[in-house]
Amino acid sequence: MTNKDPKNRFINMDLIRREDQKMVMEEIKKQGHCPFCRENLDKYHKNPILKEGKFWLLTENQWPYEKVKHQLLAIYKTHIEHLEEIDPEAGKELIELFAEESKKRNVEGGGIAMRFGSSEHGNYGSSVLHIHAHLIEPDLENLEETEAWRFKFGQPKNYRKGGVETKPQDN
Ligand SMILES: [Zn+2]
Repeated sequence: MTNKDPKNRFINMDLIRREDQKMVMEEIKKQGHCPFCRENLDKYHKNPILKEGKFWLLTENQWPYEKVKHQLLAIYKTHIEHLEEIDPEAGKELIELFAEESKKRNVEGGGIAMRFGSSEHGNYGSSVLHIHAHLIEPDLENLEETEAWRFKFGQPKNYRKGGVETKPQDN
């Protein structure tokens, strides 16, 4: 999908965590298209596609979170943004793809997360609106004494008001 809006509604530039990511996101913004749509994906996503199903592409996150052992990314093969647009059969395939790859990597434990919908609502926290799901195995050994590994849905109210610096998690 493409969009002539210079703001590029498919991505969220507020949530960039790394300098190398910023350069890529600036280019995507300029192009005005969705970086996860199949025709654009190879331009930006440099990790190999591990597996391609009927509904999903399985790969690794290009911009991994900190303190994770594994971070798999499943990208829906057509441009959709909301949960209600996902084919129920795709749910089955997603679990199968994640399970198979987890087994291969001996993932001992972790979590699956998927944001969806409007960036003004729960999906604010995602740098790309095109539906994608994460499988994460946190690196528990590297967490601080009082720290848990957390996945964010949305951002704090003061996030864009110049309040306390918050560290966005994205993608
Ligand atoms: Zn897309």
